Amino acid sequence: MHSEPLPAFAPESPPTALIACPECDLLLQPVPLIQPRSRAQCPRCGARLYSFYNDRLEKLLALSCAAVIMLLTAYAFPIVGLNIQGTYIETTVFGAIDKLWQEEREVLSGLVFVTTVMMPSVELGAILWLVIPLWRGVRPPGFAPVFRAFQMAHPWAMVEVFILGVLVSLVKLSHLADVLPGPAIWCFGCLMLLLAGLASLLDPYTLWHAWEDARATPAEAMEP
Ligand SMILES: [Zn+2]
Repeated sequence: MHSEPLPAFAPESPPTALIACPECDLLLQPVPLIQPRSRAQCPRCGARLYSFYNDRLEKLLALSCAAVIMLLTAYAFPIVGLNIQGTYIETTVFGAIDKLWQEEREVLSGLVFVTTVMMPSVELGAILWLVIPLWRGVRPPGFAPVFRAFQMAHPWAMVEVFILGVLVSLVKLSHLADVLPGPAIWCFGCLMLLLAGLASLLDPYTLWHAWEDARATPAEAMEP
């Protein structure tokens, strides 16, 4: 990918729309990127600021729809099955959360629920809420609070930590019983990659830029 260092803010030039580097706070004058798959970078610390994909919204929509399908499939099917001396047992994510709760491990059960169910759902719901109207050229209602909800949920959606925990358990349990990975584990694996792809495509500058280009809703257009 081609990287383009941005010009730093010069105090003598009129301050138009400026952006601050998220890593070192240097004030910069954003320039439109023309070459597809190019990105702007901070001239001082080299941090990535924003990037240009000519079909970014379509990619975001495709990735988020695939992620929703993976998330729902992962919740519906078992994560792991165990064959202990002829007795086969299996569990889903909700089954594991319920079992932890019944065994009086409420904090752990709550953490698993928040990091693998609640936050990934909030994250994907927020992306779809923002991207579907923008893709149709309309501003989504409540853009700023929903975008903040996405940014708040993103660090707490820990599907990859959950996957790592399940893999470690599979290796440890394989000495005691026949362990069969369920369909949900593959879905969570795909979901992990899809969420990483979504996070790399969604940068605040370009989403706000898409919001500025989109048509205002009738209520916003009536405001002075
Ligand atoms: Zn910087």
